[in-house]
Amino acid sequence: MSKVIYPGSFDPITFGHLDIIKRAYRMFGDLTVVVLNNRQKNPLFSVSERVSMIQKVLMDMGLTAVKVDTNEDLLVDYARRTGASVVIRGLRAISDFDYELQIAQVNHVQYEGIETVFLATSLNYSYLSSSVVREFASYGGDISRFVPEHIIPLIQAKYICKET
Ligand code: ADP
Repeated sequence: MSKVIYPGSFDPITFGHLDIIKRAYRMFGDLTVVVLNNRQKNPLFSVSERVSMIQKVLMDMGLTAVKVDTNEDLLVDYARRTGASVVIRGLRAISDFDYELQIAQVNHVQYEGIETVFLATSLNYSYLSSSVVREFASYGGDISRFVPEHIIPLIQAKYICKET
């Protein structure tokens, strides 16, 4: 069986990510969500906060077989080290495509043992990204259509901390 990984920032995890997780797990019967510590981004949540949020949400959804891991290295090095052979990425719009294609090609050139599989976003979530969630939350907006209920207060708390 292939070892399948879904890497991303998940800062925070959204219903769009969860839709991809459910569908990828259904397709492959194996999935590890890999939380990346992206050095170019200034994250709202630490890696360990993101991991605990994802674990709790997956438990609530009954997706206990989906694993969660973290990675600080290049993705190809992570894949080599852990034996992962399939990378899942979600595509929302044509604007995602150029960048995602380039990364998939670079990864394959660097490590032939890895293939990237793109899943098209569900229509319901094509507008949704972690940055939309952060933007709405920063103005005290309603984010209940974007993220699972129990992480809403965790996101709101980040902005309350920033204001004080
Ligand atoms: P990254 O910083 O690696 O892009 P993200 O957490 O923003 O991390 O996204 C991780 C993956 O999830 C990417 O492949 C992204 O395209 C996908 N994704 C994010 N939001 C959605 C969504 N609403 N529908 C489908 N895929 C999504």
